[in-house]
Amino acid sequence: MSLNISVIVPLKNEEESLPELAAWIDRVMRENKFTYEVWMIDDGSTDSSWQVIQQLGAENPGIKGIKFQRNYGKSAALNEGFAAAKGDVVITMDADLQDSPDEIPELYRMIVEDGYDLVSGWKKKRYDNAFTKNLPSKLYNYTTTRMSGVKLHDMNCGLKSYRRKVVKSIEVYGEMHRYIPVIAKWNGFRNIGEKVVEHRARKYGTSKFGLERFINGFLDLATIMFIGKFGKRPMHFFGALGTLFFLLGFIIAGYLSLAKIFYDKYNMTDRPIFFLALLAMIIGSQLFLTGFIGELVTRNASERNTYLVEARLDNAQ
Ligand code: UDP
Ligand code: MG
Repeated sequence: MSLNISVIVPLKNEEESLPELAAWIDRVMRENKFTYEVWMIDDGSTDSSWQVIQQLGAENPGIKGIKFQRNYGKSAALNEGFAAAKGDVVITMDADLQDSPDEIPELYRMIVEDGYDLVSGWKKKRYDNAFTKNLPSKLYNYTTTRMSGVKLHDMNCGLKSYRRKVVKSIEVYGEMHRYIPVIAKWNGFRNIGEKVVEHRARKYGTSKFGLERFINGFLDLATIMFIGKFGKRPMHFFGALGTLFFLLGFIIAGYLSLAKIFYDKYNMTDRPIFFLALLAMIIGSQLFLTGFIGELVTRNASERNTYLVEARLDNAQ
């Protein structure tokens, strides 16, 4: 039987929030008569989160879980949830009760009725530290929007809904969860919407993300943009660049050589540019070969996510 909604909750050390979150989600689903499953992905918690998940699953077969062998990051957790999700609509939500399950019905409706492929939450009013969180977030959002052409106010909001085939097309690792809408757009899902959502203050525990993750995030964005453009054809990038370098070097070196041979014009050892030209030719052929190797690698590329799953809880199966 197909389910209306799969909720994916990536979590690390959130034992206090989980019972409340599960009860709240269940209440909203019942009130709206949705059939659902919740995938709680335990991303290497060191507290008793997994025991709590097992307990919740025993009480409600709709609560399912995956436990990672260690901490692999939020992207890996989401990725695992995306693979497991069976619902027509997939909703991602943080575990710390900062995202309100009350938003679920509207996020669902915007997919099935308004026809969006992806709806991203927008935390217009935030309860985070202005300098370590809000300001860098704004900066990031501005840059990402400009670079990717995906116009969202709050790209990295943990609360989002997707048409199932969108999540099945997405593979994230590292810090890529910050740019899921960009990846969706690259994959051809253009109908990306936005909904203002409530941002609640963190009730238990502390934030796991600081400034340093933004740096990694930037590198991941570069990777995404690069893969989006050249991922399947590295030769189109490296090959073109390499050819350019090579030709530049070849023309300069060729000109100098001919001038020397026919007119004895330049003494090569006095012309550093001649060596630069040779260097350009060497760099060019190296780049070309890099593209070639990239081409071979992408043709044989397998799973990028090699994280280990320690345990699985799925009472509904
Ligand atoms: N999280 C995770 N793996 C990590 C870090 C965080 O699954 O390595 C989860 C965390 O438990 C929470 C969500 O990702 O459910 C968002 O994290 P957090 O609330 O710490 O981030 P913030 O809201 O401060 O951006
Ligand atoms: Mg949070």
